[in-house]
Amino acid sequence: MRLLLVEDNERFAALLQQGLGTAGFAVDLVTAAKEADGALEAGRWDIVVVDRGLPDGDGLDVLTQMRGRGDATPVLILTARGSLKDRVNGLQSGADDYLVKPFALEELVARLQALLRRPGNLLGLALRLGNLTLDTVGRQVFVDERPIAFSAREIAVLEHLMRRSGRVVAKSLLESSLYGPAQEVGSNAVEVHVHRLRRHLIEAGASVQVHTVRGVGYMIGEGR
Ligand code: CA
Repeated sequence: MRLLLVEDNERFAALLQQGLGTAGFAVDLVTAAKEADGALEAGRWDIVVVDRGLPDGDGLDVLTQMRGRGDATPVLILTARGSLKDRVNGLQSGADDYLVKPFALEELVARLQALLRRPGNLLGLALRLGNLTLDTVGRQVFVDERPIAFSAREIAVLEHLMRRSGRVVAKSLLESSLYGPAQEVGSNAVEVHVHRLRRHLIEAGASVQVHTVRGVGYMIGEGR
């Protein structure tokens, strides 16, 4: 498993690199936010670990940039800040998990392995939930193995929801992944796409449902 570590503290980074290496990860290290942006635009990793306190910015910005590019690689945020507000901010920015320093290496490894075990991350190709399958490479949706035509934006929304099935996906994350951070977006654009997606899933006989979590975002789950 290829892992990108974004951490500016040299000693800590060396310890993590060694420990994660022993646990079977091939670790690449970058030490600043700008460097991380460049690496992530050019390359692909199975999982990314980002420290929040970087010399040239907040690690959350690295994450926001990734999600803005539609990069759904699992990200775990490391931080010395452990307040509830910081944790909520991190998760709302599209982080998959959050670990507060100091922590035990075993806990980091266990959490990374849990993230990699999630649907879609084993091969990174097909996401499955109920009778619904999303081929993330071919950009094709199947219900009971039957191909169903979905628009590119519906598929983009569906991919974000399925990669985090059973968890809330912030509306702001869907917005930035659909339109990019710089674009002007109508206030109900995401609602429109989610509404279409819902109708489409029902018409196709999918055994999954998109729930609205008021004031936060959306969540996909099995059942009607
Ligand atoms: Ca730091």
